[in-house]
Amino acid sequence: MTTASLPEIPHFINGKKVATTSGRNQPVFNPATGAPVAQVALGSAEEVNTAIAAASKTAPAWAETAPLKRARVMSKFKELLEKHHDDLAAMITREHGKVFSDAKGEVVRGLEIVEFASGIPQLLKTQFTDNIGGGIDNWQLRQPLGVTAGITPFNFPVMVPLWMAPVAIACGNTFVLKPSERDPSPSTFMAELLQQAGLPDGVFNVVQGDKLAVDTILQHPDVKAVSFVGSTPIAEYIYTEGNRRKGAHPLRVQALGGAKNHLVVMPDADLDQAVDALIGAAYGSAGERCMAISVAVAVGSVADKLVDALVPRVKSLKIDNGMNPASEMGPVVTAAHKAKIEDYIAQGERAGANLLVDGRGHTVAGHEQGFFLGGSLFDHVTPEMTIYREEIFGPVLCVVRVPDMAAAIALINAHEFGNGVSLFTSDGNTAREFSRRIEVGMVGVNVPIPVPMAWHSFGGWKRSLFGDMHIYGEEGIRFYTRYKSIMQRWPESIGKGAEFTMPVAK
Ligand code: NAD
Repeated sequence: MTTASLPEIPHFINGKKVATTSGRNQPVFNPATGAPVAQVALGSAEEVNTAIAAASKTAPAWAETAPLKRARVMSKFKELLEKHHDDLAAMITREHGKVFSDAKGEVVRGLEIVEFASGIPQLLKTQFTDNIGGGIDNWQLRQPLGVTAGITPFNFPVMVPLWMAPVAIACGNTFVLKPSERDPSPSTFMAELLQQAGLPDGVFNVVQGDKLAVDTILQHPDVKAVSFVGSTPIAEYIYTEGNRRKGAHPLRVQALGGAKNHLVVMPDADLDQAVDALIGAAYGSAGERCMAISVAVAVGSVADKLVDALVPRVKSLKIDNGMNPASEMGPVVTAAHKAKIEDYIAQGERAGANLLVDGRGHTVAGHEQGFFLGGSLFDHVTPEMTIYREEIFGPVLCVVRVPDMAAAIALINAHEFGNGVSLFTSDGNTAREFSRRIEVGMVGVNVPIPVPMAWHSFGGWKRSLFGDMHIYGEEGIRFYTRYKSIMQRWPESIGKGAEFTMPVAK
């Protein structure tokens, strides 16, 4: 089958699927077979502008829609996501490659944000002070911004769009989503579900595309806020470009970037638990999670025991197309990404790290063309090595040996990324000191992947997040609204005469 004869994944603009007329598209692969399964539209600037125009047109009416009505759309959307849980998970597995059970978990974590957004009337409530003085009352409003936009990565094609859109929409904004071009199907499907849930046309739009679509969104004066999740170089670009748009059309930007997450194993940790945690967190989703653990920091005497326990577990990972209930790891997303990971492994060897398990050359029977890698494990990795410094985003775990907790903290704090970190210990004081001193945005104690729940907020530190606010939860409500303070009194309580001094409570 040639690419031209593959079905096209369209845009979703103003309540309708729209085929591109840009003449540009690219194939979408099933990573388990290595074969293209669809082609995705790469939108033109005109198509993106049409989506933004639809979002602009409907923004005033949606902002005026009562929060309870917006909440009811979200509740219905949650029911539809539950009804289509397996359909969405199958779509994720087909275009991303992660195993079906993991894809189902992704849908649940996204759905929880929809559940959170269903409580929007309560979340938009503000404070009120009766009679600050002189018959004046003072309260706040949190008002929607207008058109907002999201640009999302390939590794969570359902969850990450749901980190953004439900909160933005429930707050009374309209939304334009530019999903990853590598696994774009779930976004259009979710647009249809939102429509079925009663969302008016134009409130949620999807534009498929690449850099051209992103730049068009960033430059459009009607777009008031952009949430980005993806790699650090692009996050920095989005943040810088977004902030360049000052003056008449300021843009609010939050840009979540890449990661290099450490899991520290103290000598007093339960070794079996630490090994289970490392195996799941390093190799789950083939390491293609921004919260994946890619560095095990072995403290003191635990190192040899830890490495000995890890090796057989990495060698025996159950790797296949992900549809088997026992599947542990699927393929990586594209052939190019597989080659990049293999190159990192070669660099690690050249730098002198000890490659204990080599995942290159792994094949899965019946899926010889799939983008599969086995798990790789390096020992004696040091901080100056590229495999330690850079995000590999694949099934590669590096063990770094340090003498004590102070050295572990110093190592992690010196890294340019600060998304997630985990500590395995049985000592409460060690845990407390670590949590307070570590310069990382999300910390797990005996929890390998500390992704905050929907009503907390998600975000890293350092070069893992550009911007002031974390995503979803209460920070999400702040990001997608403008704060206004109102003071009000009525004529009966106004004294006569102009006042020339600073107003104070009387
Ligand atoms: P990516 O940066 O390549 O792409 C992200 C988005 O940016 C996509 O929609 C893509 O089309 C767009 N894009 C790509 N190149 C662009 C360019 N030159 N100009 C403008 N837009 C561009 O990221 P990815 O490979 O899809 O996703 C993996 C990365 O995302 C990893 O680095 C991972 O750590 C990160 N990530 C971070 C978080 C987080 O919460 N911090 C969550 C998930 C993924």
